[in-house]
Amino acid sequence: MDFKVATLLKASSGNKKLESVSSTLKMGRSEFKCDVDGSVLLTKTDVGVWVSACLSAKIGRQCGSCLDQYIEPLDLAIEEEYFPLLNLVTGERNELEGIGEDNFYIGEDNVLDLSDAVRQYISLHASINSKCKEYCKALCVDCGINLNKEKCNCRNNKKNTKLAALLESFRPTE
Ligand SMILES: [Zn+2]
Ligand SMILES: [Zn+2]
Repeated sequence: MDFKVATLLKASSGNKKLESVSSTLKMGRSEFKCDVDGSVLLTKTDVGVWVSACLSAKIGRQCGSCLDQYIEPLDLAIEEEYFPLLNLVTGERNELEGIGEDNFYIGEDNVLDLSDAVRQYISLHASINSKCKEYCKALCVDCGINLNKEKCNCRNNKKNTKLAALLESFRPTE
């Protein structure tokens, strides 16, 4: 999710550049990926670049109940200022005093990489519970079948054996 912003950084503040995004992100250490689409408005500020992004993410996740993989859709509205590490005019490193460490930076190659911000926003806004649907039927504790997809007879069998035992006790003795 890289944007070349050298030209924008040389422009005066208030200049804008509209970009579109369509890419796939890896989410941390997990094997799951996230598709991200949308538009990104880059605006030159006094010191850096203001990013306003409207993105729709499709996050690959695994259901905690039935272990199935599913997609969680999530709309992201990102508003962040990015600060350039390098001063394009002087070629020197910028003194970014007073700017906290939590900020996002534009690398020395004048490339603004949005992927860290997208990951942060996703981890903040994605639902905490990983459930494929509200009423996931989970896996059968006896046979391990995914009860969303198939039925098994474990419960019935248990009922049947209980019922059988019950009927047995009522059987008239001869
Ligand atoms: Zn599930
Ligand atoms: Zn079962």
